[in-house]
Amino acid sequence: MKTARFHAAVAAVVLLASAPAVWAAPANADAPVTEAELARHIQVLASDAFEGRAPGTEGEDRTIAYVVGEWAKAGLEAVPGSATPWLQPVPFVESQAVGGSARFKVNGRDFAMDKDGIILTGRDASVSMTDVPAIFVGYGIDGAGKVNADVKGKVAIMLFDSAPFGDKLPRYRERRQMLADAGASAVLVIATDALPWAELRENVGGKTVRLADAAPGAPVSGFLSIAGADALLAKAGLGGAAAREAAKSPDYRGAVLPVTADFTAKTNIRSFASNNIVAKLPGAKPDGKAVLFLGHWDHLGICGKEGDADRICNGAVDNASGIAVLIEVAKRLGSGTRPDRDIYFMATTAEEKGLLGAHYFADHPAVPLGDITVALNIDTIAISPRGTPVATIGRGKPAYDAVVRDVATKLGRRLDDDGEADAFIQRQDGWALGAKGVTSLMVGGSFSDMKLLEDFLGSDYHTAADNFSDKIPLGGAAEDADLHVALGRAFADTKRWPGK
Ligand SMILES: [Zn+2]
Repeated sequence: MKTARFHAAVAAVVLLASAPAVWAAPANADAPVTEAELARHIQVLASDAFEGRAPGTEGEDRTIAYVVGEWAKAGLEAVPGSATPWLQPVPFVESQAVGGSARFKVNGRDFAMDKDGIILTGRDASVSMTDVPAIFVGYGIDGAGKVNADVKGKVAIMLFDSAPFGDKLPRYRERRQMLADAGASAVLVIATDALPWAELRENVGGKTVRLADAAPGAPVSGFLSIAGADALLAKAGLGGAAAREAAKSPDYRGAVLPVTADFTAKTNIRSFASNNIVAKLPGAKPDGKAVLFLGHWDHLGICGKEGDADRICNGAVDNASGIAVLIEVAKRLGSGTRPDRDIYFMATTAEEKGLLGAHYFADHPAVPLGDITVALNIDTIAISPRGTPVATIGRGKPAYDAVVRDVATKLGRRLDDDGEADAFIQRQDGWALGAKGVTSLMVGGSFSDMKLLEDFLGSDYHTAADNFSDKIPLGGAAEDADLHVALGRAFADTKRWPGK
């Protein structure tokens, strides 16, 4: 606080003495973001009235009203030309398996699969198939990353682990989708020890959400337990161990099994809409390039079981803290010297369902992606105290890294270059934009001290305990907010940053 008053006093004196000096150092005009300002927003967004901010709920309506209200006060505007001002509607489909059965025949004779050996979900409300021929496909892909066998009309039995013959090959979800795209009637993934069966059963029985315009999966998807798969493969004359061994070859083409399957599956399917909140701060001298700030507004909603004392996952740190920072950054940039370039602010939906709001924006950009010179994502920012070094997820482009280093250093921050934070790159919204070629950075102290981060991830994270309280460390978040104000100014400055 003392430093702030000192700066303000200096600015006032300088203003009297020589106005141009103030223009030469506009960043000094930004009042530091305070813990109290952030706390006020977090307290509202993480209050029980917001019901944990699940997409498609009343909690979403309240979140939108609050964020739009604050951004409008900050001087942001709706993106011109948007059919629904301030909002990008995102259509979703939610499914929940409510029952299913599988019957296998090996060489025409009934094979008794252990009832707990298989988990099924249907794509549509009701699925019924008989005599579907089976093929074991190993990893489902060859060394070139292409589907390795003819799976059309078949049940493809696939290994979960990543293929050992290449490190850039798709993971199991993508491989499962590739098999569906290739016409598989069913895809069954063989679980591993890394995928605890009890957890899998619970997840599959729960609700899953996908973008309404995502490619549909196979009519039936599911998992086989290790024991269930081994028993079936052994009966089919292809031992589980031998099958796994053969699949290690990048030229493996699968093994047609003397197995057929009958499936039924019933699924509750519901369509609903949610929204990304998108706003614009028009630049003073726009040059066609733009800065995008983003952070996810959603959280897990009502997550506890009936009868639990606290059933609401309020998501105070994850990610009311990030939205609080986005509000205060917007206020500084909206009221101080107006930046040259347009600056966009986006609060995304359904990050917790797999970065879905960010993926939707990347596929249907409200701003041309090629115009975005940098995207700065803010997630789970209230972890560290003041003085924590600055880590950056998404480093590696020297010109960008130099701006971050320069801006952080000028604010008296130390840099953390050990690269530990990179482990989280796929777990944040910036990944969805990065996949489309937008330089996406996540900058700040939260991902610098791994001990503090692991402590949070191992305790309140994604539980009903992620509540607002005065125990949440907001010093680091306030400092990181100042850092983002300065980063916004630097990347939006046409003389300082070429916009690539
Ligand atoms: Zn989360």
